[in-house]
Amino acid sequence: MQASILTSMDSKRLLKTFLDLVQIPSESGKEKPVTDYLVAKLKSLGLEVWVDDAGSKIGSNSGNIMGRLKGSLPGSIAFSSHQDTVVPGIGIKPQIADGIIRSDGTTILGADDKAGLACILEMFECIKDKPHPTIEVVFDICEEVGLRGAAQFDTSKLESKYSIILDVDGAPGRINIAAPYQDVCKIAIKGKPSHAGIAPDKGISAIEVASKAIASMKLGKIDDETTSNVGIISGGKATNIVPEECRIEMEARSRDEAKLNAQTKHMLDRFEEEAKKAGAAIEVSKERVFMGYKFSETDPLPSLVAQAAKDVGLKPQFVRSGGGSVSNIFNAKGLASVVVGVGFENPHSKDEFLRISDLEASANWVIRMVELVK
Ligand SMILES: [Zn+2]
Repeated sequence: MQASILTSMDSKRLLKTFLDLVQIPSESGKEKPVTDYLVAKLKSLGLEVWVDDAGSKIGSNSGNIMGRLKGSLPGSIAFSSHQDTVVPGIGIKPQIADGIIRSDGTTILGADDKAGLACILEMFECIKDKPHPTIEVVFDICEEVGLRGAAQFDTSKLESKYSIILDVDGAPGRINIAAPYQDVCKIAIKGKPSHAGIAPDKGISAIEVASKAIASMKLGKIDDETTSNVGIISGGKATNIVPEECRIEMEARSRDEAKLNAQTKHMLDRFEEEAKKAGAAIEVSKERVFMGYKFSETDPLPSLVAQAAKDVGLKPQFVRSGGGSVSNIFNAKGLASVVVGVGFENPHSKDEFLRISDLEASANWVIRMVELVK
């Protein structure tokens, strides 16, 4: 199969693009410098480019980039990576030793997600003068602060029905084909204050209500595709006051929507039942933070991505994830989407690193995906 590959990346150019990108600051909400770089680069590669107004709605100085390179071959495919990084992401000085790129230890590296951006740009460099299908890109903003740029992006502007998001740690070859639905709930229990020494029986302890509910709750790993967690609890004013209020924040996730509905209901029911028993009031807010998705390994998109991996000598690894990503949002908007690994390790830390060999393999993988589009 290897022989069928038309094109391979240029290591030097790819590495230079990556090193250029990480040195351009783009912490979430302040992506403008990297947006300018990417827009200029995409235009020089022959793409039509648009920047949307998402930034003004979500507090960023930039917007989501959409680009399109019209193809002479049939078919269309979209690639996506995010423009922003976590902090500390200003003044990144990449260092290379033994084929590994790291920061100087005072910042993140920003390979999350500039490895993805570099691979996509390299793919255009390699493919632009050859026959190719229509290729589109979405480079979103504010991904690291709750996928907010992607949530604003209008996927109906794309011609492509399929998209590949380059944005997960682990070796190239990794393909996330499923991710959970997620609910986040906030609960406020209102009891009744009273002097804890003189008249504790006249009070209703909101903390006690919360404790009983949580102690009887199914939490942690519920089954293969369902998890739940009480993450924040606060309340009370002093040791000598029966606490009037207790606030709880919790989440549940499942790759099966019915299971998630059941788990969320179970958690809320436990609070409601204990509040009722104690005579406390309760306020509940529930938000479906993102919708899940699930592909089978033989569906067209995972098949294409896996075949491309094999063709460039990578081992496809299908992962059913417990985390949410831009892919959840795109799938919910009707744009079929999987997330693939581009090799960065320890993201969101000063220990983040990227093997040059993984960057190169990822770029070849992306090029091959384009070649396989029909
Ligand atoms: Zn990322």
